[in-house]
Amino acid sequence: MPDNIFLNKVFITGREATYVAQAIADSQKGGMLSGDGSFTHRVSEFLEKTFDTHQVLLTHSCTAALEMAAILADIQPGDEVIMPSYTFVSSANAFVLRGGVPVFVDVKADTMNIDENLIEAAITEKTKAIVPIHYAGAACEMDRIMQIAEKYDLMVIEDAAQAIFGNYKGRPLGTIGHLGCFSFHETKNIICGEGGALLVNRPNLEARAEIVREKGTDRTAFLSGRSDKYTWRDIGSSYLPSDMLAAFLLAQLEHGEEITRRRQKAWEIYDECLRSSGLLELPQYPHDSRPNGHMYFGLLRNAKDRPAFIEEMRNEGIQVLSHYVPLHSSPAGQKFCRVSGSLENTISGASRLVRFPMYCGIEDKAEMIAGLAMDKLRKLNSVIEA
Ligand SMILES: *Cc1c(COP(=O)(O)O)cnc(C)c1O
Repeated sequence: MPDNIFLNKVFITGREATYVAQAIADSQKGGMLSGDGSFTHRVSEFLEKTFDTHQVLLTHSCTAALEMAAILADIQPGDEVIMPSYTFVSSANAFVLRGGVPVFVDVKADTMNIDENLIEAAITEKTKAIVPIHYAGAACEMDRIMQIAEKYDLMVIEDAAQAIFGNYKGRPLGTIGHLGCFSFHETKNIICGEGGALLVNRPNLEARAEIVREKGTDRTAFLSGRSDKYTWRDIGSSYLPSDMLAAFLLAQLEHGEEITRRRQKAWEIYDECLRSSGLLELPQYPHDSRPNGHMYFGLLRNAKDRPAFIEEMRNEGIQVLSHYVPLHSSPAGQKFCRVSGSLENTISGASRLVRFPMYCGIEDKAEMIAGLAMDKLRKLNSVIEA
């Protein structure tokens, strides 16, 4: 029996251990092992240059970056934030922690990204921000979203947790909204175990972002010599990752393009096999925005086939999985959030979605996995039709 193929497998570039050892050695020569040491600075500079944005602050998770974003958006009790229900809990939780009310609008039937045409109807006097989630590393319709935000004076916070190196009309995801959030969790494309970053894309938010990340103090200005002492200035928390994690992350980022290319290659192999088969509903992405190969997913024709399909693939040693329970249907979602309009596509898509194994190294197996999936799906379909 060959090894099981899981949905995700950590990819190591080879330089992680060397860089982490260097961070440890540096701490013996006056370097900092805490946050904002030399590797943290190297990673921030790398990201600022690669994504051509004002300020990139490393955090210990994307959840932390979203929490910082909620503070920077000045969310007050009762303020509303528009987002899809089909997302990870942190997209909503970060705002609920500030007393905000997530307002869910439906997603597109194929991409599972927020339907930009439904946003305006959800806006009230209390609306403060829009949070597009780039599901599977594929872009939301950012031109329209930014247009609406400008018209109603709202902030746009991109949850780009899955979307590093993805783009929209040539612009990197995470850099288009006022703020963008990346995740470096081990299940994402670029990783350091647990980690994240806040992209501050507007200069007027930079000074406060530094303070919020440093427990509400101006320690960052003090460390860089811009201030001669530091003190409590604002609300904030401890959002810095250790320099050892930044060291790990630098090794990954140096191979960021290669990692993305290899995942995109696997994505294309899956897509070539499965799209022509017509056995799954697959997302139609615009030609001018390329997903980053974070995830390959499709929608089964019938929700009731999903457990059998997942089970049959598992029997072949291949992990195929569903994804989010829509937040509006969860106990906390019902308590803290509000729904705008029908969530028909969210509910239907969530019940039919399956994800296929995706990681650096799956390229050689993608055709075999797609072939097996097609066999299983044909069998399930013929049972129904018979
Ligand atoms: C993974 C993920 C997060 C959370 O990332 P962490 O780094 O684990 O906090 C948030 N939003 C989305 C859409 C994600 O996929």
